[in-house]
Amino acid sequence: MGKRLSKAEIQRRAIDIRKTDLGLTEYVRLCPYELAREHGIAVHPLGGLSEMGCPEESVAFYASERPDVWSAALVPAGTGQFIVENTSHLPRRRRFNVAHEMAHVLLEHEFDRVMFSAEGRRGCANPSSKDQEWEAEELGAELLLPLVAAYKAARERRTDEEVADLFDVSLLVARWRMNGTGARIVAQRAAAKRANFRRGR
Ligand SMILES: [Zn+2]
Repeated sequence: MGKRLSKAEIQRRAIDIRKTDLGLTEYVRLCPYELAREHGIAVHPLGGLSEMGCPEESVAFYASERPDVWSAALVPAGTGQFIVENTSHLPRRRRFNVAHEMAHVLLEHEFDRVMFSAEGRRGCANPSSKDQEWEAEELGAELLLPLVAAYKAARERRTDEEVADLFDVSLLVARWRMNGTGARIVAQRAAAKRANFRRGR
């Protein structure tokens, strides 16, 4: 397997995917379900699996795989994949996990198992490789809230709550993108620099 992608490369790809696949700029909310549709990836609700002809045992398996802790699963099927969603979870969490599973698809990761997005972590509970998981984690987050958009929001002094609403992500994800990436610190330093400059220093 090749080297892990850089953060910069992942940021570039997210912006490209937004623009090419969905006609979106980096500063607006993205719908991961539209992205899945665009790529021919079906997203099935867990409850609808038996209606679509999925064997009862499989449905029972997804439901029993600690149903409280997973929000989305990426399932290999023949040469493709589909996503199963735990629709009992909050929409923002589901959006994030669908974006994460789509990131695996978009990065053309090869995997040999059903991958589950788990509670309390940003990605799959059972990744097939650490590097792949890291890449999907970064790309999934970049798709929903690109770093450049986080910088802009930081310059505009938006709160984490405002950012969460604007991009339809959980508060946890908004905090990660605004603080964990350094977006707010960069914006604060730039503002301090401008203030110093105005004071003639
Ligand atoms: Zn994953």
